[in-house]
Amino acid sequence: MNPDTSKSVRLAENIYWVGNEIPDDQFQCHVYLIVNGEESVLIDPGSRITWPETRKKIMEHIPLESIKYLICHHQDPDITGAVDFLLREAPRQDRIIICHWRTEALLVHYDWHLPFYRPEDHGWKLKLAGGRELRFLFLPYLHFPGAICTFDERSGILFSSDVFGAFTETFRLFAENESYFEQMKPFHEHYMPGSEILNHGIREIEKYPVEIIAPQHGSIIRENLVNPMIQKLKALDCGLFLMPVYQNNILELSRINSLYRTMMKALVTGVRMQDTVEKMWEFLSTVAPVESLFFYVWNEAGMVYRIGGAGKAVEKELGIPVESLRKTPLFAPLFRDREVMTVVSDTIPGLALPDKRKICLAPLAAHGTLPNGIAAVIMKPGHDTAAVTPFMDEIRPTLGAISKREEAFLMVEQEREQFYRRAVLDMLTGLYNRYYMNAEGVKEVQKAVRYGYPLSVAMMDIDHFKTVNDTHGHPAGDEILEQIGHLIRQILRDVDIPVRYGGEEFLLILPHTGISGATKLAERILNRISFYTFRPSGIPVPVTVSIGIAAMRPGDTLADMIQRADRELYRAKETGRNRVCTESPVTN
Ligand code: GH3
Ligand code: MG
Ligand code: MG
Repeated sequence: MNPDTSKSVRLAENIYWVGNEIPDDQFQCHVYLIVNGEESVLIDPGSRITWPETRKKIMEHIPLESIKYLICHHQDPDITGAVDFLLREAPRQDRIIICHWRTEALLVHYDWHLPFYRPEDHGWKLKLAGGRELRFLFLPYLHFPGAICTFDERSGILFSSDVFGAFTETFRLFAENESYFEQMKPFHEHYMPGSEILNHGIREIEKYPVEIIAPQHGSIIRENLVNPMIQKLKALDCGLFLMPVYQNNILELSRINSLYRTMMKALVTGVRMQDTVEKMWEFLSTVAPVESLFFYVWNEAGMVYRIGGAGKAVEKELGIPVESLRKTPLFAPLFRDREVMTVVSDTIPGLALPDKRKICLAPLAAHGTLPNGIAAVIMKPGHDTAAVTPFMDEIRPTLGAISKREEAFLMVEQEREQFYRRAVLDMLTGLYNRYYMNAEGVKEVQKAVRYGYPLSVAMMDIDHFKTVNDTHGHPAGDEILEQIGHLIRQILRDVDIPVRYGGEEFLLILPHTGISGATKLAERILNRISFYTFRPSGIPVPVTVSIGIAAMRPGDTLADMIQRADRELYRAKETGRNRVCTESPVTN
């Protein structure tokens, strides 16, 4: 499949590859020859290293003196280094250099004493003796401001210079399949300044009926691969944004670049700050010795949240207003100077670190404006912040916009939480209301039935509460109710569902609790209340309760159990109050 590269390789009638395969070099440089009698053309003549091979391969076809035109797509040494040799070995008065004026401005320093033919002054074309016409395409900034490439109309070959070039692990003169793109990719990411600029060049190229692409580096692309490579290149994000100091492996840079792209995309499209933390962590932990990453943001009411950790996006409400954060010695300079800083500390607000660390603190905002948040990047022991500081400075306006958005989200979330609490909780006692009981309590009973575990309910009523109200006043009664709610919540487990069933009546739904467990629990509550000193308006008021208990029986609904517990409560009242009555177990 791959031709013998010790000789020139024919690409089309009168067109030859006359390059040089340099062993173990990822960066092969190709030279092309158009044989056209005394007006032959050498395209990107090559370097001082490649010249001996190129000379030999040219001479397979023509004497060196037949080369009239030297096309220099740009001015790098691997293109122009060979020119001196040619001029010395085969002088010719009417030889011409073809290049853009920007390239000419540099090539004059070689002092070749040759005239220049600037394509831009000749309608971007050159007619050779015999009728062959070359077209020149202007590819600004790919990768030199004056970069051009050459299209030969007769053969359909595009001598594309750097565009479509590649780093090749193993030298192949011809690209074998679409996987060639994987080699083109890092080359373009690295050399081409940006996708917009690259696409501008590709659009230029697409105006021509290209059949073969002959780049100066990499492999020659035959017809079947021309379009696939063009399409893939169009979609490529190129231009490396970050070159970490300790990274010089091009493939690694390419991977980092793609992580950076993914991160930037996620930052802009991500909905919440959590997404931002995760994506930034993925990126930062790859490029720098970072131990953890936190964001401080605040809601519209100014309450501070800390989001992040070592990659995990944990959101924690710190319970302090942003004004307090602003006064901390660590953060105050951020609000004042609005610059990225490095500090050494073993704490950040709301968090103690295992030891003193270098921390990069970045105000999240456009430069010079008041921050909408703070980022804290904590470095691993012994590492400084040099690898992250420029990045944080660059990205902080974007992060500022994200934290501004988060501010609103946090507020909505808090309001939603409040609405929910208002909807399911009784505001006086903090216990669940009957709406919640009917929804979740009923579900608990169904679950106990389905999975066959015990469940009990307790119905509790305050004794002679009317008298308490009458003696001490209704507000005092309210205070007692509130305190009882508090005591109940202290004693119950999270899985239990305490409900304010009526005015001074409480229902406790106790999953995973049989009759004896429920009785013990009820007695604890009863004792806690009867020994507790209620002091509404300063005067001690003794309070007792009566409790009735029912345990789940086969076929029970919540309503059935409530009814039986109520009956036991009635019995407790009847038999003297301040006691627990438990239904007798079913015997059948
Ligand atoms: P018993 O021991 O038989 O339960 O006597 P009791 O007085 O507690 O019973 P009764 O049902 O006659 O009275 C209940 C009292 O609870 C009447 C009402 O004023 C009081 N109450 C109900 N809800 C509230 C409330 O939200 N706040 C206050 N302060 N009192 C309430
Ligand atoms: Mg009562
Ligand atoms: Mg009552």
